[in-house]
Amino acid sequence: MLRFMTNQTPPTAQLLAALTDQSLRREPPTREQALALLATGDEDILDVVAAAGRIRREFFGRRVKLNLIVNLKSGLCPEDCSYCSQRLGSASGALKYSWISPAAAADTAERAVAGGAKRVCLVASGRGPSEKDITRVVDTIDAVKARQPDVEVCVCLGLLKAGQGERLRDAGALAYNHNLNTSEGQYEAICTTHTYADRVDTVQRAQGAGLSPCSGAIFGMGESDVDIVDLALRLRDLDPDSVPINFLIPFEGTPLGGQWQLTPQRCLRILALFRFTFPDVEVRLAGGREIHLRTLQPLALHIANSMFLGDYLTSEGQPGAADLAMIADAGLVVEGADTQTLPDARHDLVVLRRRGPGTHLPANA
Ligand code: SF4
Repeated sequence: MLRFMTNQTPPTAQLLAALTDQSLRREPPTREQALALLATGDEDILDVVAAAGRIRREFFGRRVKLNLIVNLKSGLCPEDCSYCSQRLGSASGALKYSWISPAAAADTAERAVAGGAKRVCLVASGRGPSEKDITRVVDTIDAVKARQPDVEVCVCLGLLKAGQGERLRDAGALAYNHNLNTSEGQYEAICTTHTYADRVDTVQRAQGAGLSPCSGAIFGMGESDVDIVDLALRLRDLDPDSVPINFLIPFEGTPLGGQWQLTPQRCLRILALFRFTFPDVEVRLAGGREIHLRTLQPLALHIANSMFLGDYLTSEGQPGAADLAMIADAGLVVEGADTQTLPDARHDLVVLRRRGPGTHLPANA
């Protein structure tokens, strides 16, 4: 496409053409290109969406994957993540409760699948799970899978210790989520009770345990364009299979309460940057979409190929029926349970043996 460009072509058009060509070859933007994309003007936003949308259609067609969060344990967290309504000393008024039963989690998962969700995300507040917590979550995975054998289970329990990811995988979890959230340079301003390196370590532990790594971001926390690009490129290094993009929900009673730094156009530029950085990876529209994108949410679905349905951890989302109507109105379709989300090229060529000796399944012979 670049060969048709001339010196008369506007710089934004040249940039988008280059990003499109690279993404179709699964090559990420350079740092300079990423910064230039974030610096494009609001008047160019439809061109940005169209270019990112072309990549989305190339790798994911018109499909939208739906995911639903099940908050297994809410509030009461000893960590101090500034953005979080469940943090130490939070006065957000968010629900506080200890572990819900496996049956209650399975009930929610059943409703999620009935509403179109392909993945349920089992989430618990806290620094990280104890061995007893892992046993509880194993029982919960069993209960969910007994009723919904085809649903993808992702688990998000904080920092993992050695062997815990393997226990979750053996119980039937497909994925583990642990977001990097922001850049390494900004991390200490956001959280002091654990480090960026701790977060990276957990993503790598999950990956090493054979879980599909899910790791994303939150924007609207005072980050600069450089922070956004640093984060995008760091996440790319970690090679996640899914990347949730959150926009800060500024809960009153938390340090970031009252922070409204985003516009719908900035959210779209950020999403486009992540689409170009992760052309064939699941880019998921996550928390805060309703309050920051507002009436431009359908445009975001032409960039992201996945979204959360229903409520978030501690705040209420748009009604599920409105989400489904929005998807249909945008000319998109809900991804079915029998459809592979990621393109073939994203799937590992090396498959760890899970049948034959040492398992409950017959050998491949
Ligand atoms: S993000 Fe997680 S670890 Fe941080 S305060 Fe909230 S629940 Fe705790």
